[in-house]
Amino acid sequence: MNILVGILTAPHIEYEQRETTFVLKNVRIGIGFHWDREEEEEFAGRLEIRKNADGTETAVNTIDIEDYLCSVISSEMNADSPMELLKAHAVISRSWVIRAIEANRHRLRTAREPLQYESNGHIGFDVCADDHCQRYEGIRRINRRATEAVQATRGQVLVWKNENGTEEICDCRFHKCCGGKTERFSTCWEDKEVPYLQPVDCPYCNTKDEHILRQVLNGYDQETSDFHDWEVRYSNEKLRETLLRKSGIDYGEIKNLVPLRRGASGRIYRLCIEGSLRTETIGKELTIRRRLSESCLYSSWFDVERENNGSFVLRGHGWGHGVGLCQIGAAVMANQGKSYDEILQYYYSGSILKSQK
Ligand SMILES: [Zn+2]
Ligand SMILES: [Zn+2]
Repeated sequence: MNILVGILTAPHIEYEQRETTFVLKNVRIGIGFHWDREEEEEFAGRLEIRKNADGTETAVNTIDIEDYLCSVISSEMNADSPMELLKAHAVISRSWVIRAIEANRHRLRTAREPLQYESNGHIGFDVCADDHCQRYEGIRRINRRATEAVQATRGQVLVWKNENGTEEICDCRFHKCCGGKTERFSTCWEDKEVPYLQPVDCPYCNTKDEHILRQVLNGYDQETSDFHDWEVRYSNEKLRETLLRKSGIDYGEIKNLVPLRRGASGRIYRLCIEGSLRTETIGKELTIRRRLSESCLYSSWFDVERENNGSFVLRGHGWGHGVGLCQIGAAVMANQGKSYDEILQYYYSGSILKSQK
């Protein structure tokens, strides 16, 4: 099965076609997150440069899904990871991408109105190459062990039986570090219950074991080390400025930040910002993280302390939305000798591992 990956949109795409690969210059990764940066990347498969209506160009890569996965596993995880962790991730990423392809085709078939860019979808390709979908950073980081893990789980996906008794591929959400408990789907996205994405206690990810962290975190992720328990401090003026820059709203002096609703883990999904000029409630999880930081807060699981001088201290836990598999937790489980299906069962309870033809 082939997949269409939209790698990059720019006024002009600079590329170099080689014998069996192509190189793109200035690929931006981690857009909007604190690891945002540009890289030169090399890809396998076919390259097509599309002209967009607004005059920009988009680089679209057609590639076999199993080859795509080798790159994704290598981009998301370090090759020194235990094999069971790499295998777990291969199953998750495969399930995720097949769902994305199906959803895209479904949308194209059923669309009556001209298609618009949607926050969860793409027009003209199946997935993008950044954290919005899955990190796909080409072939330079591909390693033998990631390839082995993809081959060992070839065709395997996680499924569940829906209310009609029909098998569906699971929406395998994952994140870096849950911070002690995983989160419900509805804290971050639509208000619906997803049976296999239920909160579970995760005693595993509270680790400072550098050997394990190096396995899971790529070079630029290792710059982040205080993810299980973290603290951010803002002067009142700095917080006001940040909120203004990120939301376009001047709240005035910030009187208080009041968490109104929390999910199962403690992640806030309704937060009231009380200012001298304006008071407003924001949510859900990602909006809160983006508004309260120049880049993006590690998570929305935090307590708020207002100091006498008007400064705010946010004391938080975890890195990411917290739904589904906790990557650091899964790495610790794998290092303790758990198998990939045990790891998957732990974070996606009630799901079934199945081979697709
Ligand atoms: Zn995307
Ligand atoms: Zn965890």
